Amino acid sequence: MSKNIIIAIDGPAGSGKSTAAKMIAEKLGFLYLDTGAMYRALTYAVLKLNVMDDEEKIIHLAKTVKIELEFRDGNTIVTLNGTDVSEEIRSKEVNNFVSKVSAIPEVREELVIQQQRIGSHTNLVTEGRDTTTAVFPKADLKFYLTASLSKRAERRFHEFQEKYGSITIEEVIKNLKERDQIDSHRKTSPLTKADDAIEIDTTELTIEDEVEIIIAKVKEIYQENLNK
Ligand code: C5P
Repeated sequence: MSKNIIIAIDGPAGSGKSTAAKMIAEKLGFLYLDTGAMYRALTYAVLKLNVMDDEEKIIHLAKTVKIELEFRDGNTIVTLNGTDVSEEIRSKEVNNFVSKVSAIPEVREELVIQQQRIGSHTNLVTEGRDTTTAVFPKADLKFYLTASLSKRAERRFHEFQEKYGSITIEEVIKNLKERDQIDSHRKTSPLTKADDAIEIDTTELTIEDEVEIIIAKVKEIYQENLNK
């Protein structure tokens, strides 16, 4: 079999990564890997066990809990030690703690190994904060998505309201700013644009536009390679 193809997309929360990545994976028949869901599942376990202030315990959990992702009908089912936590990992509490958990270098080391294993044999569309830089630095195609803070907050506000109801736009903005700050300034693999990533500002784009632009790039690159 020829080498598997990896398309990696990074960017801050609300930049349009997940929806686009899922749609692209479905269109291309690739697996979709939501790396953020893994950090979220671990954070959910940390909160459940009430060990937020104990780094040693968090690291131990990262090495011992079993996080599994299954991409089914356009959605990712996330299980933690066999229990479906797909809804719970999107809660306000997890949103508030996930960046602190994911900033721990040993946590990243463990989850990155698991993510690389998932991407070792299969065609993949993946997204997160370091998929273009640390997880798959040799990805075939890399994208870096951005959007204005107000647009990102608006997107997250609507998603959250539909699912869970009570939240204010101010709360969403505060959470996004805090996560941006921690994710972009942590010591280990902070969120940053890889030199060879294609940057797309999605502020004024619909999700369909975004998918179309990315698919066109994928086709362009593969056509170029076929013609070589
Ligand atoms: O993408 P999502 O918003 O679900 O990610 C949740 C959090 O997980 C991010 O704010 C970040 O702290 C962490 N994360 C990360 N590296 C990734 C994906 C997510 O540190 N590759």
